[in-house]
Amino acid sequence: MPECLFCRIVSGGVPASRVLESPQTVSFRDINPQAPTHVLVIPKDHYPDLGALASGNGGLLAEVMAQAHQVAVAEGISSSGYRVVLNTGTDAGQAVQHVHAHVLGGRKLGWPPG
Ligand code: 5GP
Ligand code: ZN
Repeated sequence: MPECLFCRIVSGGVPASRVLESPQTVSFRDINPQAPTHVLVIPKDHYPDLGALASGNGGLLAEVMAQAHQVAVAEGISSSGYRVVLNTGTDAGQAVQHVHAHVLGGRKLGWPPG
């Protein structure tokens, strides 16, 4: 069994509330939602962060972002608006070292983030 939490969600070893799936990605609800819609989009393959994904497989990065939009459509927030966030590294508070895009929406989102 892989150690990485999100790899275990991909394999089904850890349960998650799935919203969408594509051949190369899985989208599931964040366990600690910060907005009415808070969904994480991840590649099924393990890349630790945005830099690794961008340099290793730019096409897959594009697929993650396209799926983020599809999540917004599926959640009914593509017209009202949404935010896509990739926390990267210590200062951004990245807690899980498997690249993931947060899709947030369903309420007015503040800016700048804290
Ligand atoms: P980060 O801070 O790394 O950008 O975000 C990690 C996110 O993963 C957090 O928003 C956290 O709530 C979420 N998370 C952590 N563990 C789990 C889990 O086991 N299941 C789900 N669905 N989300 C998780
Ligand atoms: Zn992983």
